[in-house]
Amino acid sequence: MIKPKILILGAGYGGLMTAINLQKRLRSRDAEITLVNKNSYHYETTWLHEASAGNLKPEQVRYEIKDVLHKKIIFKQATVEKIDIHYKSVQTNQGELYYDYLVVALGFEGETFGIDGLDKYTFGITNVNDARKIRDHIHTQFAEWASQELFEKDDALLTIVVGGAGFTGIEFIGELANKVPELCREYDVPREKVSIICVEAAPSILPMFSETLVNYAVDVLTDKGIEFSVGTPVVQATKEGVKIKKGPNQFDFIKAGTVVWAAGVRGPRVVEESDLPSRRARVAVEEDLSVPGYQHIFMVGDCAFLVNRETERPYPPTAQIAVQQANTVARNLVALVKGKETKPFIPDLKGTVCSLGGSDAISNAFGKEITGKTAYIMKKVIDNRALYLIGGLGLVLKKGKLNPFK
Ligand code: FAD
Ligand code: NAD
Repeated sequence: MIKPKILILGAGYGGLMTAINLQKRLRSRDAEITLVNKNSYHYETTWLHEASAGNLKPEQVRYEIKDVLHKKIIFKQATVEKIDIHYKSVQTNQGELYYDYLVVALGFEGETFGIDGLDKYTFGITNVNDARKIRDHIHTQFAEWASQELFEKDDALLTIVVGGAGFTGIEFIGELANKVPELCREYDVPREKVSIICVEAAPSILPMFSETLVNYAVDVLTDKGIEFSVGTPVVQATKEGVKIKKGPNQFDFIKAGTVVWAAGVRGPRVVEESDLPSRRARVAVEEDLSVPGYQHIFMVGDCAFLVNRETERPYPPTAQIAVQQANTVARNLVALVKGKETKPFIPDLKGTVCSLGGSDAISNAFGKEITGKTAYIMKKVIDNRALYLIGGLGLVLKKGKLNPFK
């Protein structure tokens, strides 16, 4: 009997979890399973803000994919260039691959909304190398300021603007707030010379949290010297900084040596350029996560678009959801291979935690509002759990945050 070919694109939370699930549920003779990823390693996207601020080494954020796969999964390091749903093929920079069943789990790209200059002059927090670039750039700006003569010192070098006060922007700002005193000591920079400004288009930061939790976050971060500019969308980025809109025909310019753009995500362009029906590169899926009209193609994670029937709002692109979708897709693939019916995705949402740097966080998990160290410990437990689900205790011991009370 010819074995069906299952092809999984992307080894982030969604793709790698699908592969791990399938290696437990299918035998080698049931299917040929191939996992494709552009790097040889998986990275914990949810830790990238820490690496970007320089509080975690990039090596801790990543691990080799082969180390967590059994031999029955073929791993191919390649970049997906084109998905052809008509010929059931995928072009990569390492050649063409064919499938009977396809799982697309290619994650996200930063959304720039076409705003002038963002692509060219700002940094995004999207992968390990971006994190390295942000960390190194900030060090360079401090070193540059320190090496200038007193009369020529340009304080804008020490201004860091973060665009967007959603989860990513706030978690990054929290990490930065903790890092800056260390940078000041290292480069002999007076702390008052450094400005960290969070620019948000909406009237408030973190709109998904209650006013009480938002106020807590603002107080914690303001105490650490963070400035907020809310209700002021960034409308342009240049080499010198960002232009923000303060009202009808009213603009301001913030001179900044570093601008980090964290104002939302979209699906990857390679999905948009395929014939998969997508919006902002996310593909609307059926309840069982298959693409309408293509029961053998599944979307997982940030490139899937599905509306939560209870809230009538789309599920947000989160790791929590990507992992749960991976479980559903793996079960559905096993069902299809065995000639059975697929089942719908039924998420078990536990709420969220947003870290504020140091040992502080806010959380609305399990229907309760929690702040401070308890919320922070929850965050570390979640971080370790992600490792445990993929690689068991061994991976937690190797890469985990082993002292969550620190
Ligand atoms: P990803 O995890 O992004 O994986 C995509 C994979 O595909 C990557 O390995 C990538 O290298 C690979 N890939 C991409 N393009 C190609 C290509 N063309 N060819 C081959 N391979 C390719 N969510 C939470 O639930 N909790 C959190 O605490 C949290 N914190 C976050 C912190 C930060 C700083 C950021 C940026 C996001 C955070 N998120 C969090 C969101 C979460 O990280 C994403 O929702 C999650 O990573 C989506 O998983 P995914 O599998 O869809 O994509
Ligand atoms: P987001 O969409 O959640 O937030 C982006 C923010 O940028 C919004 O508040 C938006 O109003 C603002 N914005 C948009 N355009 C702007 C402009 N021109 N100028 C200034 N501000 C602008 O995006 P994100 O924070 O990147 O998060 C992406 C996804 O990842 C979300 O689903 C989020 O839940 C998830 N995530 C979760 C965690 C966590 O659970 N701890 C951490 C990070 C990210």
